[in-house]
Amino acid sequence: MSPAPRVVRAALRGPRPVYIYDLPTVRARIAELRAALPEGVLVAYAMKANGHPAVVRAALEAGDGLEVASGGELAAAVEAGSGFTLLSGPAKTDDDLRAAVAAGAVINVESPHELRRLAAVAGPARICLRVNRAHAALPGSHRMSGAPTQFGMAEEHLAAAAALARRDGHELLGFHLHAVSNNLDAVAHAAFIRDCVAWSLRAARDLGVDGPLINAGGGFGVDVTGAAAFDLGALADGLRDLTLDRGARLVVEPGRYVAAPAGWYAAEVVDVKRSHGRWFAVVRGGTHHFRLPASWGYSHPFTVLPVEDWPYGFERPGVTGAAVTVAGEQCNPRDVLAADVPVERVRAGDVVLLAGTGAYGWEVAHHDFLRLAHPAFTILDEPPEESPDQFLA
Ligand SMILES: *Cc1c(COP(=O)(O)O)cnc(C)c1O
Repeated sequence: MSPAPRVVRAALRGPRPVYIYDLPTVRARIAELRAALPEGVLVAYAMKANGHPAVVRAALEAGDGLEVASGGELAAAVEAGSGFTLLSGPAKTDDDLRAAVAAGAVINVESPHELRRLAAVAGPARICLRVNRAHAALPGSHRMSGAPTQFGMAEEHLAAAAALARRDGHELLGFHLHAVSNNLDAVAHAAFIRDCVAWSLRAARDLGVDGPLINAGGGFGVDVTGAAAFDLGALADGLRDLTLDRGARLVVEPGRYVAAPAGWYAAEVVDVKRSHGRWFAVVRGGTHHFRLPASWGYSHPFTVLPVEDWPYGFERPGVTGAAVTVAGEQCNPRDVLAADVPVERVRAGDVVLLAGTGAYGWEVAHHDFLRLAHPAFTILDEPPEESPDQFLA
């Protein structure tokens, strides 16, 4: 698929290396997800996927609030004017707890000790209990519940935790059940959400919680290689006759699903060379800006944007019809964005454009390694356009 003209324009005419974030995509992803979920769902964008203030603002416009997982993110959510903020994290500091109470955030309490600490340092709070339930494994990465992890509390501690919460005057709103990241199986995700609802309604009845908040977390997947897609239709079908009785509210906290397709990364090719039989396109930029290909061990798909200007009075290095490895500027052979990918042509001075880099891209990269320059950030906020081909022609 060709990149949209507005993205190509930003990659070719703006500063580089650059992250390009498209706000209409952020809003559209939230709207599409909301439409596939039961009526009345609350969508709290998980800021850690992409915390750029413009992205966070767009997510707040289209969604209902923000999920934050540190004191720093909580401060950013307050700054962005979030009216519905949920704080999770297994090692919240006393300051985090105080700031969350001051901000009116819902605190996803991860252990009985945290519950006691909350009462001791910050007073009564609006809380959900984060529960690590026994449940069937979901496809995806980063499994957080249904297995031994540092997150949440075991079901057998729930009754005691609820009693403790009442004793300390906390307002027990419901349950936080975030389980997995990057699940591409929408049928399994629908089953997981149904199970969250059934389990929570049962637990709410047992513990005397009225109209529980049922927080099914994030984990809606994106295949950045483009080989597969999360099927929103299947999610909607799987949830069609789900009823949330007793005044219950469903909450979801999508991060990757919202931000990944809203981001592109563009870097300029500095050199093209052949080494021991392999072609390399070396870019100014690399895995210190976009780390996923290195940490997950895959080749990120890219498009070569041709640039006709060539400022030097001597030969321009390049190759046509060859498999090329796109390497970065670090003095490190692991600084590779894509390995041995066939291209029609790539020359020094061309621009390499990677789509689907909006989530866990810049946020998780080792920015300051080698004191290399940070990329620019270009924010697009125009209505999506016309034919994608006019600029590539
Ligand atoms: C990371 C996280 C999310 C978002 O996860 P995605 O896989 O990006 O959707 C949501 N909730 C919690 C508690 C998280 O830690």
